Amino acid sequence: MDCLFCKIIAGSIPSKTIYEDETVKVFLDISPNTNGHCLIIPKKHIVTVEEVDEELAKHILKVEKKIYQILKDKLNIEGLTIVQNNDLGQEVKHYHIHLIPRYSDDNWKMIFHQESLLNIEEIHHKIMN
Ligand code: 5GP
Ligand code: ZN
Repeated sequence: MDCLFCKIIAGSIPSKTIYEDETVKVFLDISPNTNGHCLIIPKKHIVTVEEVDEELAKHILKVEKKIYQILKDKLNIEGLTIVQNNDLGQEVKHYHIHLIPRYSDDNWKMIFHQESLLNIEEIHHKIMN
């Protein structure tokens, strides 16, 4: 299959791996938002959160906690922002979770102020009806 992250798992494309087990691999993002930005990927090729089963979710949670501790110990990170894109905004179509270390001086902002949003009453109505 022509999937970049499957090739990383297979080792045909190199990556800076920081953790690996039979289910997942964790490696440094090639274009980091902050120092230590890494990605958790399942070894099984799936694309979005819709395909994540409970067993995988539980395992990933365990790995997230482990990596957080490692990054605290080794890089002195002060926080961790976890993001995961699905479909629109997802550049690589192999499920992956971004672990983005935070530092008090990192100046990194995930959310920018948006001028043209619907008000929350309207959004709540759309979702609930
Ligand atoms: P997405 O936008 O799909 O959520 O994020 C894809 C991420 O994969 C990006 O942060 C990008 O920098 C990273 N990435 C893309 N190609 C490679 C690669 O060949 N190696 C590594 N380590 N990361 C990659
Ligand atoms: Zn894949």
